[in-house]
Amino acid sequence: MKIIGRVEADAVTDVVCDVCQCSTRVHAGGLQFGTLHAHWGYGTTHDGERYELQLCEACFFGTLAYIKQERRTQNLFSEDGPDLIENLGLIAKDDYFGDAGSR
Ligand SMILES: [Zn+2]
Repeated sequence: MKIIGRVEADAVTDVVCDVCQCSTRVHAGGLQFGTLHAHWGYGTTHDGERYELQLCEACFFGTLAYIKQERRTQNLFSEDGPDLIENLGLIAKDDYFGDAGSR
């Protein structure tokens, strides 16, 4: 038997980018953001610290461009091809419904 009643609950109404402080709500109505997170464990300098940052699309790709540049700088003489750096972190493409899995 189902008993229907009114329930008051907290819900996420917006996610604000941790860099530019803009809402991550897009014109289509949803919240679109990337998450940078870490949980540092035993043996690290930051043992026990947890981080989580939400980034809007522009700030996410700005951050990714910075990371790619660091990769290029730190591996100037390596055999990494341009595709490896260009697709750094990309695990799926054309995955519009979240069902493409990972490569
Ligand atoms: Zn932003």
